[in-house]
Amino acid sequence: MIIHLSNTITNANAQALAEELDALLISKPEHHVLVTSHTMHTVPAELSGMVLEAWDMPTDMQLSSRLYQPHTHRVMIGDTYIGGDGQNQLMIAGPCAVESREQIEQSCQMLQGLGIRVLRAGCYKPRTSPYTFRGMGEDGLMLLAEMRDKYGVLIATEMRDATHADKVVEYADIVQVGAKAMYDHGLLTAAGQCGKPVILKRGFSSTLQELVHAADFVMSCGNEQVILCERGIRSFETQTRFTLDLCGVSWLKEHCNLPVILDPSHAMGYAYGVADLARACTAMGVDGLLIETHPNPCEAKSDAAQQLSHEQFEAMYKSLGVVAGAVGKRLV
Ligand code: PEP
Ligand code: MN
Repeated sequence: MIIHLSNTITNANAQALAEELDALLISKPEHHVLVTSHTMHTVPAELSGMVLEAWDMPTDMQLSSRLYQPHTHRVMIGDTYIGGDGQNQLMIAGPCAVESREQIEQSCQMLQGLGIRVLRAGCYKPRTSPYTFRGMGEDGLMLLAEMRDKYGVLIATEMRDATHADKVVEYADIVQVGAKAMYDHGLLTAAGQCGKPVILKRGFSSTLQELVHAADFVMSCGNEQVILCERGIRSFETQTRFTLDLCGVSWLKEHCNLPVILDPSHAMGYAYGVADLARACTAMGVDGLLIETHPNPCEAKSDAAQQLSHEQFEAMYKSLGVVAGAVGKRLV
């Protein structure tokens, strides 16, 4: 249950009530928000006279539910936004990982040429094998910060675990929580306290319900700037790396009040399918795309098979504008 309490109640009193009711408190200037488990169905007697409005929620998808707030949250991304009126489709592009100054600089030049605002690149890579490249760490973050100053790009980069969460928060403009980290409550808490937009990727074995619960986790720590990312789930099919769950995206658009972006690169696992999938996602009217592209994919230290060359990326990007226009969206 979500309960709005009048802001005439002091923070200390609201906190005491929250503790008494085993509820979570988010204090906003307009009102206090109390969130209890969804198993509570009536407003507790202790709150009589203080309640502005209350919602009896059917599941613990609460703050992220359209039953609570019907309109999609507007998340500011530099001088633009996604969500809100739903007109914008944000392009987020760049290599899987920062590998060198030359590689990341070439990536920025390509994005700048197309007017794309957000550079993605990981510095702490969650790898399946311990013998593969795990990222440049803080040296990579420093290179990204340099690129932000030089090219004016915004930086989206991921937190792999709690050991470096504070560093990522310090350098990133958009913090990414990766698929393998979706259940890491330490990271979800760090994301909830970071004060920056968060891309929350769906775990590849996670249900939609688990994804939205993870989103509620971040939001319940006070950060409403959450962007959900569908990046493919594991199915019985092994010819492609994962299966992009477009039905799930429709479900999220229907039930969840957060912007949804798609990552066809990790879903497909091979460069050849990425442009087609990106156009299909754009035709669905999604809020953004996250695409991996590398100046020399054959030499990429991670996810080489799925990264588009810059030529492939530019060709795909040109075709996306037409599809976006057809569904009333503009690429930002
Ligand atoms: C990535 O974006 O490079 C990445 C590791 O993605 P995911 O967490 O979806 O596997
Ligand atoms: Mn990758």
